Amino acid sequence: MSTLLSRIFAERKQTGDLDLEAVEMAFRAALHQAGATALSQLLRFPEPAADQRTIPCACGSQAHYRELRSRHILTALGEVELTRPWYLCPLCHRGQFPVDRQLDIENRDCSPGVRRLDAIVGQQGPFDRGREQMKVLAGLDVTAKSVERTAEAIGADIAAREQREIRKAVQLNLPIIVGEPIPILYVQMDGTGVPVVKKEIEGRKGKTDGQPAHTREVKLGCVFTQTGWDEEGYAIRDPDSTTYTGAIETAEEFGRRIYLEAWNRGWSRAQKKVVMGDGAEWIWNLADQHFPGSVQIVDLYHARQHLWELARRLYPNDPAGQNAWMKVHQKRLLDKGKIEKLVLALRSIESTNADVLEKIRTEADYFARNAERMRYPPFRKQHLFVGSGVIEAGCKTVIGSRLKQSGMFWTVRGANSIIALRCCHLNGRFEDYWEGRRAA
Ligand SMILES: [Zn+2]
Repeated sequence: MSTLLSRIFAERKQTGDLDLEAVEMAFRAALHQAGATALSQLLRFPEPAADQRTIPCACGSQAHYRELRSRHILTALGEVELTRPWYLCPLCHRGQFPVDRQLDIENRDCSPGVRRLDAIVGQQGPFDRGREQMKVLAGLDVTAKSVERTAEAIGADIAAREQREIRKAVQLNLPIIVGEPIPILYVQMDGTGVPVVKKEIEGRKGKTDGQPAHTREVKLGCVFTQTGWDEEGYAIRDPDSTTYTGAIETAEEFGRRIYLEAWNRGWSRAQKKVVMGDGAEWIWNLADQHFPGSVQIVDLYHARQHLWELARRLYPNDPAGQNAWMKVHQKRLLDKGKIEKLVLALRSIESTNADVLEKIRTEADYFARNAERMRYPPFRKQHLFVGSGVIEAGCKTVIGSRLKQSGMFWTVRGANSIIALRCCHLNGRFEDYWEGRRAA
């Protein structure tokens, strides 16, 4: 440190210049090194006193102190050496390092400080970018693999805790969350495909639900609140009120997950409850099962998309014809919530093309099935959202931007770990999790 200082002063005297960046980085490196040396001294644990050389073993017997053992761990200050007592059980031959447990580094190469950084960069972008951020921002040399391992291990722990909470929620009556009444609470759900490694699709029937090959569907849900609307009456989402939860899992499993999230967000004290999604059947099954009595709304833009597809089939290569048809069917019927009339109009379309007839029938059924969820004018009169843009944006920002970059192929376990970690972080719960992680 002092040689570094005298070198910097000498250089400055000689040239009159100070390369601030070079100096600050050199100081950071030197301070890290000094810190690592000091930390290594702190981490040199003595032999236990004579009366503390026996500790309980998990097998029920006693482990005895054998010797001091050393290893390296990576800390926020760089690599340090740890020396601590090792105990061995003569009965089951299990060795243990009580100090490692106490320091939260049992079976880990990295300190908690480094693991927290790994988790934050690992949930945010590709693991190799995380490695780069660790180098540039924290001055730490880690491998992409270690960022991946750590981020996935922490995500898996978060996911496991969620599952414990979900199991508890199923078995017990959930405690009422006290607080102010919430004027309007929304639950939105959607699905989005994530590319997976081959073994995750083997034995599954091919393309289902329009999912492209080699992907598995992540079910994502969000919960947010609304207290007001703008001068024109359009709904305004409460800032920072959105939380996300999701996983690659069955609709049944996802239902319990989104139910718990909504509950924790104050479902029981919401004065108006709204569930929104596209037309996917699983969404409405879950809405009926877990959120009875809520207002159900099909995303208006999805509904319009259904009409557009039909318009293109009815008037191929005829934009004017398509527009004219949409003017009637979208503007005068769908947007006005006159779904029964729309269904009648669709069913009365004649065509000699069997494919087109089949498409018309499918779409008419879709509108008939969702008619009550498409009463857009009364929804608007209540200043409710009519589009599920929040969850669609969530599919892109929460899932797509992290898990769908080119060349990425996930295991279900890996993807679910990163999704859990990412949602936890985006929901502003990571710090609480990290502080509380050793309590459970
Ligand atoms: Zn033992």
